[in-house]
Amino acid sequence: MESIDRFIAVRTQKGLYRSLNPITSRKNGKIIIDSREYTDFSSNDYLGLAGHSYILEKTQTALKDFTAGSSGSRLMGGDWEIHHELEEKTAEFKNKESALIFNSGYQLNVGFFKTLLSKQDAVFSDKLCHASILDGIKLSDAAHFRFKHNDMEHLEALLKKHRGSHKDCCLVTESIFSMDGDRAPLKDSVELKNKYNCRLLLDEAHATGVFGTNGSGMAEELGLTGEIDYLMGTFSKALGGFGAYLAASSRLKDFFINKCTSFIYSTSLPPHVIAGNLAAMDLVKNEPARRMQLLERAEMFRNSLTNKGFMIRGDSQIVPVVLGDVENAGTLSEKLKQKGYWVMPVRPPTVPEGEARLRFSLNYHHTEETLKNLAEEIARASQTE
Ligand SMILES: *Cc1c(COP(=O)(O)O)cnc(C)c1O
Repeated sequence: MESIDRFIAVRTQKGLYRSLNPITSRKNGKIIIDSREYTDFSSNDYLGLAGHSYILEKTQTALKDFTAGSSGSRLMGGDWEIHHELEEKTAEFKNKESALIFNSGYQLNVGFFKTLLSKQDAVFSDKLCHASILDGIKLSDAAHFRFKHNDMEHLEALLKKHRGSHKDCCLVTESIFSMDGDRAPLKDSVELKNKYNCRLLLDEAHATGVFGTNGSGMAEELGLTGEIDYLMGTFSKALGGFGAYLAASSRLKDFFINKCTSFIYSTSLPPHVIAGNLAAMDLVKNEPARRMQLLERAEMFRNSLTNKGFMIRGDSQIVPVVLGDVENAGTLSEKLKQKGYWVMPVRPPTVPEGEARLRFSLNYHHTEETLKNLAEEIARASQTE
């Protein structure tokens, strides 16, 4: 076993020691931490729905009608009608035959691969896939091959070499990558999965609510829903709530209800959380202006930083400014905090060595003026290094 003291000493010495920062309040894009107010660039509440009065009302009504907890796992006394209502609405939203609700995206991904794949099978995953996907693959007995980020030539080379010696095969990627804010080449991924007779799992955690005509994600935006076998996403990011969904065929849903341990052996989400998720889906459908405004402002923010000479990644509401070493990222984040902007430095091992960055997570509450001022502040703070 690794020595705890040694681990902490090494992390501290490298400037990688992490600690928690409790929030007192979060309202309209502002947070209060340690009695100080900041403009919040750390939240995944992209559409500003977490504090929306309609969702809060529906949640409060459900708390009166139901109980605080759900009282059991879905198969053992915790299966409420409202869970089924959310599953039906999600299936319709994602344009799939059915959907299964999980307690979190982490729980879904961690249970997914073990449920579906066995020793003769293989998974091909993008190098930048979320930790929950990696943990899930590790729990399965399938062979695992990682392709370079968004590199379809590398993926095809791996498929050519290894596909033949495995029975079933699953590709996995994300529509928007959480630390780079960029998009997977989904059309090419679909082509390759067809060519090599594989299935495809798409993680839409950061795209759900933000992309697509109805706001259901990138698969919808690109018209690829029918080609993608398994669509997963969360209610915890743009939808401002909690929980996750797997949208696929009814047959697959029944199989998961019977086999997926991270679904079976965990208490189901409380009914009021489900009521909040239902309300959030109404808002996503009825208020497309929220996501359009968010993406327009993100583009404006990216352009102004690029014009100032910064290295920007991505093409979404997640705007990473890559600063190289850990100290640069830490110093800039501190300076911005002093100016009233709350932004998190992202450091290895979350991102590769030498790619420390500030990750600006934009949301509906950020005005054009806020973003303009912030871009100027970033330029000023990094010049005085
Ligand atoms: C956030 C996230 C998850 C996990 O979802 P939770 O509901 O927060 O557990 C899974 N995949 C990706 C890509 C994510 O960004």
